[in-house]
Amino acid sequence: MPLLDTDQELTRDSYYAATVVRGASYPVLDETVDCDVAVVGGGLAGLSAALDLAQRGFSVRLLEAREIGFGASGRNGGQAIHGLACDQDVIEAQLGAADARRVWDMTIEALDLLQGRIRKYRIDCDWRSGYLGLARNARKGVELAAWADRLEAVYGYPLQRIAPAEVGGWIASGEFHSGVHDARSGHLHPLKYTLGLAGAAREAGVHLHENSEVVALRQGPQVELRTARGSVRARQVLLAGNVYLQGLAPALAARIMPVGTYIACTEELPDVVADALIPSRSAVCDTNFVLDYFRTTNDQRMLYGGRVSYSTVTPSNLAQSMRQRMVATFPQLAAARIEHAWGGFVDISMNRAPDFGRLPAAAGHAPNIYYLQGFSGHGLALTGLAGQIVAEAMAGDASRFDVFARLRHRRFPGGRLLRTPSLVLGMAWHRLRDKLA
Ligand SMILES: Cc1cc2nc3c(=O)[nH]c(=O)nc-3n(C[C@H](O)[C@H](O)[C@H](O)COP(=O)(O)OP(=O)(O)OC[C@H]3O[C@@H](n4cnc5c(N)ncnc54)[C@H](O)[C@@H]3O)c2cc1C
Repeated sequence: MPLLDTDQELTRDSYYAATVVRGASYPVLDETVDCDVAVVGGGLAGLSAALDLAQRGFSVRLLEAREIGFGASGRNGGQAIHGLACDQDVIEAQLGAADARRVWDMTIEALDLLQGRIRKYRIDCDWRSGYLGLARNARKGVELAAWADRLEAVYGYPLQRIAPAEVGGWIASGEFHSGVHDARSGHLHPLKYTLGLAGAAREAGVHLHENSEVVALRQGPQVELRTARGSVRARQVLLAGNVYLQGLAPALAARIMPVGTYIACTEELPDVVADALIPSRSAVCDTNFVLDYFRTTNDQRMLYGGRVSYSTVTPSNLAQSMRQRMVATFPQLAAARIEHAWGGFVDISMNRAPDFGRLPAAAGHAPNIYYLQGFSGHGLALTGLAGQIVAEAMAGDASRFDVFARLRHRRFPGGRLLRTPSLVLGMAWHRLRDKLA
């Protein structure tokens, strides 16, 4: 069954969906239209590109299969963090020091872009500054400190060090050894932000369509995208459909793996409890390979994410298993009721680096279908910048887009059927390492 269908139930019980008011739906595409650029996918990557393109004077249609923010953008952990999902050495090895530096700088620009857009379009989305990276044992503490030292030495990015004796002042949990703090990263309500960005795109002139799944794509100088009730002909196209594109672009789907990750959210906690959990109110991630990520919300709940799944079936007892994870970190929350539990899929690439590029074109015309994928669970901020640089490329300056497009990506070994077992084996090894003190 297509992921778009199996995934529907994963989003139903999200805290985010329960705490936004959606305006009227955007219309279904029910005619044949021409435009400069068609965007497939109403997540942050697609919306960011559409907004920027419209501001450059392009006529833009954005087609979303379900609702704006249906995918990862509307249900993620809300943590906007510097850097990429992979370490910078992956980028250095492929692009060399100078371009690795450009990539790093663009990840920081992505944070500024996100906060700038919140201000510019007055998006009320609960932004709070601050990110804590925490190591769960001494060995990981040493690795984290070495990583922070290198980041400062090579990229000039300073992180505040948190020594073992100080960690208790940053988090009310005995589970952590030491950490780092970054004041430039932060967290927000991702669905409010995504809907706000959609509003800005609409204001800029983008035609947004919901419940308009693209079911067929015909390449050519004029690309044709068909939905059940209409079609769009466009000179250029952006595929920003994350893990859901599947059969629409099989060559892209082979290079990413949908991995489920899950979040639970408590009832509102008494102020005295919530304020003590993470006194700085920063977003928090541990440094495990299968990481836990959590934060307190503006309305004083603990929003706790983690776990992974390689099956596309929603895990049974999701709320209970996430509760156990949360209580292992914060035993003082043992009596807190879980009010929401949900999940979604991240688009993991083999090396965890983002996978941006163009589909090869048939002979006789230039490539005109761009794609953005492989955010590997670290896309909340980067999607915005990615949308902006794809817009630059479509407008004729691909210099920044092509830095990313030069990154090489491998297909998951064994094709579609063996993708899952090979990833599971790799993850099992990393999990074992996480458990070693
Ligand atoms: C549970 C969870 C927690 C996460 N936590 C964090 C976090 O804390 N910090 C962080 O940086 N990142 C996080 N991420 C990752 C981050 O959310 C993603 O990298 C980012 O939102 C990807 O945006 P996108 O626009 O590429 O994809 P999406 O937001 O998934 O958007 C793709 C859209 O395309 C649509 N679509 C697909 N196919 C078609 C088609 N054929 N026709 C029309 N529309 C189509 C889908 O319906 C979907 O709405 C998390 C992800 C998940 C799932």
